[in-house]
Amino acid sequence: MKLVMFSTAGSGDRVGALHERGVTDLTAAGLPGDMTDLIRLGDVGLEAARVAVREQPSLSPAGVILRAPVPHPPKNVMCVGRNYHSHAVEFSRSGFDASERSVLSDYPIIFTKAVSSIIGPGDSIIWANDPTGTVDYEGELAIVVGPGGRAIPASKAVEHVYGYTIVNDVTARDLQRRHVQWFMAKSLDTFCPMGPVLLTADEAEDIESRWLRTRVNGELRQEAQISSLIFDIPTLIATISDSITLEPGDVIATGTPLGTGIGFEPPRFLKPGDTVEVEIDGIGVLRNSVIDGR
Ligand code: ZN
Repeated sequence: MKLVMFSTAGSGDRVGALHERGVTDLTAAGLPGDMTDLIRLGDVGLEAARVAVREQPSLSPAGVILRAPVPHPPKNVMCVGRNYHSHAVEFSRSGFDASERSVLSDYPIIFTKAVSSIIGPGDSIIWANDPTGTVDYEGELAIVVGPGGRAIPASKAVEHVYGYTIVNDVTARDLQRRHVQWFMAKSLDTFCPMGPVLLTADEAEDIESRWLRTRVNGELRQEAQISSLIFDIPTLIATISDSITLEPGDVIATGTPLGTGIGFEPPRFLKPGDTVEVEIDGIGVLRNSVIDGR
């Protein structure tokens, strides 16, 4: 199922299911009004959603505005640094990585983005929020956690995946270098586009065989198969939950491949007027424009 958060003219945000006939309003059908609350209901919520899709009328897609599918995760959006070999090399060469000890790490690099940086598909990335003018894109697959837990073994990790979405881990490169720790550079308002849908895990068992592509103004910049992650999805869940309790609705962005703006010589940073599209097979296209915003 493709779960969404959406609004219509005159309505607040609600939870829905996107399908070929349009959008079923799950909140109107008695399910929660926020995705994290639906995720907490687990399989019971998903079954009720399936019944609603069969039995309730559909809204026309034309009248629906999609929002970030998980706008209120219980903790910061967790992210993985340097998790594709190709990007690790390009980032190291760029000289922007003040935290660097070696190109590849023995353990995944985990950092977070503030929840307040999340925006939805179609929302604008505000370029002027970065005082250094070095705004860059990072197309990424994101895991949405279902049942929470501590010390989840890799062999059971899939049982804790509710589904997947796309995150553009927008980054202010000079802030990333200036502050050494990455939180500042990654958490600027509007710097976490997410969506367009949350694809439930039952429809994404082949997630590692799918492809991620990022385009800027239509030009292909990033293209990688999810299977080329250095630390795979079970390893990430096992590693993080070894020391932090994962909760329903937590979001883990899994890292970005080769082709970010800092990989070019000279760097090709985003500028007002640009449009960034991140696409993953079966999840859709996360499209956001960059505006000056001043
Ligand atoms: Zn990233």
